[in-house]
Amino acid sequence: MFQLLFSYNTFFFLSLLPHLFPARTVPGNFINHSPTATWHNFVGLIDAGKGQNFSGVSDLKKYFHRFGYLRNDVVGNFTDEFDESFESAVVNYQKNFGLTVTGKLDAGTVTQIMSPRCGVSDAVHVSKKYAYFSGEPRWGRSAHDTLTYAFSGDHMIDYMKISDVREAFRRSFSRWSAVIPVNFSESDDYSSADIKIGFYDGDHGDEEPFDGVLGVLAHAFSPENGRLHLDIAETWAIDFKLSESKVAVDLESVATHEIGHVLGLAHSLVKGAVMYPSLSPRTKKVDLKVDDIEGIQALYGSNLDYHYCSLIESDVSSGWFIGINPLNWLTYLVMVVGVLL
Ligand SMILES: [Zn+2]
Ligand SMILES: [Zn+2]
Repeated sequence: MFQLLFSYNTFFFLSLLPHLFPARTVPGNFINHSPTATWHNFVGLIDAGKGQNFSGVSDLKKYFHRFGYLRNDVVGNFTDEFDESFESAVVNYQKNFGLTVTGKLDAGTVTQIMSPRCGVSDAVHVSKKYAYFSGEPRWGRSAHDTLTYAFSGDHMIDYMKISDVREAFRRSFSRWSAVIPVNFSESDDYSSADIKIGFYDGDHGDEEPFDGVLGVLAHAFSPENGRLHLDIAETWAIDFKLSESKVAVDLESVATHEIGHVLGLAHSLVKGAVMYPSLSPRTKKVDLKVDDIEGIQALYGSNLDYHYCSLIESDVSSGWFIGINPLNWLTYLVMVVGVLL
């Protein structure tokens, strides 16, 4: 499925840092803010531009290829030259993340690239909202209104109580089942469960190896595959008060995001959305936003018990609605009136 995604040039993502830094921030400023071990070396490429050779560009080409910005036909030919195809990858990346489009590796762009993220490839977005995988796959309409999930007996973490992990996932699943007519039920039978969850180390047999601390945090496959994998090298946390690590990653936030993929959502470029591809360490982002809900309901329909009111109030109060198309406002107002009536 990942190969299929790459070949269609689709992809995904997660990061909160670039808007915090002006385009010319000096490198030292953001090393402290983005402790991503995996992609740390990219900091040396700041201000690299077209037509020259820079040590490390070949690694960044691999990165862009992995996440859907360079086509398959350049595989195996990654040089350190900042060539035309690499420049267009940089431009597409900048457009996708709402960065200033310079075609150069300015500080804001490199900061975004270095941010911890989901391992699922990004889609080239035509509009800044939710997206689906190629072909818009979803779980079968007639076969399921309850999907089962199970944890791998052999691939769990040992520094956290299994009951706490199960409870975090139960809460994550319930956020999605609250808005669509699909229920989730935990099963003891891993082999027959629809959704299979586990923590994996490095190369684990699905051609999407994990990369150690930060970098790629997790990945999941599109419907009806059901695999949801988390990088065992991360310092997973459920309560940051109990984990002092600077690189602790919130399990429930990542679980909620990856379940979105399992159900058929690709990455959204709405920064507040759960389906945004990057997530900073020690950050909790578990509540579905309007963008997430619109996306998943367009795929599965709406849960009749679900009402928009509280969510709209919360999105408005958090300022998330700023910049949304006025026509959408009208839609929401009509819905609010409908609910009140
Ligand atoms: Zn993702
Ligand atoms: Zn995997």
